[in-house]
Amino acid sequence: MIDEITSLMQEMIRNRCVNPPGGEMKSIRTIERYLSSFGVEPEIFESAPDRGNLFAIIKGSGEKPSLMLGPGHVDVVPVENEDEWTVPPFDGVIQDGCIWGRGSLDMLYIVASQTVVFAHLHSEGFNPKGDLKLLVVADEEVGGELGANWMVRNHPEKVKVDYLVTEAGGDPLGPNKVSYIYGEKGTAWTRMRFKGEEGHGSAPFRSNNAVVTMAKVIQRIREYQPPRDTTITKPFLRAMGIGITTRALMNQPRLLGFVLNRLANSGKGNAAFIHSLSQMTWSPNVCQGGAKTNTIPGTAHLDIDVRVLPGQDEEYVQEHFKKALGPLAKEVEIGRMPSDEGGTFTSGSMSDANSSFVEVISSIVQEIRGPEFTMVPLISPGATDCRFFRKVWDTQAYGFAIHDGTIDLATLLGMFHGTDERVPIRTLEMTAKGYIELAKRFLS
Ligand SMILES: [Zn+2]
Repeated sequence: MIDEITSLMQEMIRNRCVNPPGGEMKSIRTIERYLSSFGVEPEIFESAPDRGNLFAIIKGSGEKPSLMLGPGHVDVVPVENEDEWTVPPFDGVIQDGCIWGRGSLDMLYIVASQTVVFAHLHSEGFNPKGDLKLLVVADEEVGGELGANWMVRNHPEKVKVDYLVTEAGGDPLGPNKVSYIYGEKGTAWTRMRFKGEEGHGSAPFRSNNAVVTMAKVIQRIREYQPPRDTTITKPFLRAMGIGITTRALMNQPRLLGFVLNRLANSGKGNAAFIHSLSQMTWSPNVCQGGAKTNTIPGTAHLDIDVRVLPGQDEEYVQEHFKKALGPLAKEVEIGRMPSDEGGTFTSGSMSDANSSFVEVISSIVQEIRGPEFTMVPLISPGATDCRFFRKVWDTQAYGFAIHDGTIDLATLLGMFHGTDERVPIRTLEMTAKGYIELAKRFLS
């Protein structure tokens, strides 16, 4: 099975389904050919020219809830600088016990493992008590409109499911700690528009300069502290084994800021992560205003990356922007970014952090990694395809895989959309074993 997983991965890495433009049909056909050789008859759905999705099912008796392997996305992000890589990023090189290449970690190793597990269960004549589904999709890296969301909208009867397992998770969070993902933050990307009065740049006395107003607003956004909420960080910190005293401080929203500052002194990474999971975050990232050095700008705009916790809506975002801006608020028009630039509001979403699914994966991890291992519940600060399924069917959706622990967390996180992306072969082995056990135990 490991050989089959690696050769599927190699072919998909070489297919270069870089999104945009995607061209995912190449990898969809790779998977179709492989599945057909096991007698599986997958269905292919083309959502656009050269773009598409693949679905297969092993019917269950209906005595248990259904489970989906996937959605697994076959699109990958571009490589910015090939020269920085140790090996060419689209060759599918196997070296030093790892398979290297763009997309290997995000998330072709999961797609390949799930596909191979599905094919083998099919050929063994697996008779599940609930449906076992396999979904491979396009377009996750650019919003999922032609991938997971397209399937949810156009073929709901096929992809509706009670539980699903998809990307991320299984990360080594510390000694004997493995993560699983049960939710994600939402996005409320915001554009602020500023109006001033055009004039000659040689006479700025008491001018109404849109860029100056924008600068004041940026400063206020930077300084404002939205309310902290420790609901999500509490179970995470406990499972991480953080000392009881520190934890007691961190569990109090009022003291969290103080502790985070202390924590940041010994490394920003963890503090930034806990910070992002304990509040709405604002990052003013693009500003535009002014056209000529000799002209006082009459207009300007500012794009802000806003991420909300589950339960925080657009009204909440607006309310806090108004508070942050104070009297400046009346000089600013606050609205969504255009939808083709990512401005559609998406709320955060969560599944049950303690479901029967979680019990099953915990016992599997202990068998594969060792009895001393515990699972750490995590919310993803970024968006995944899970959100479409949670929104329509309240699907219990999780990110789960099993890393072998030979690559530390910081290196691993740096590989997502980064340089020298790679996956140890041992990780493929553990992950595939994990998925087989999951399907068997959950559906038998
Ligand atoms: Zn991904």
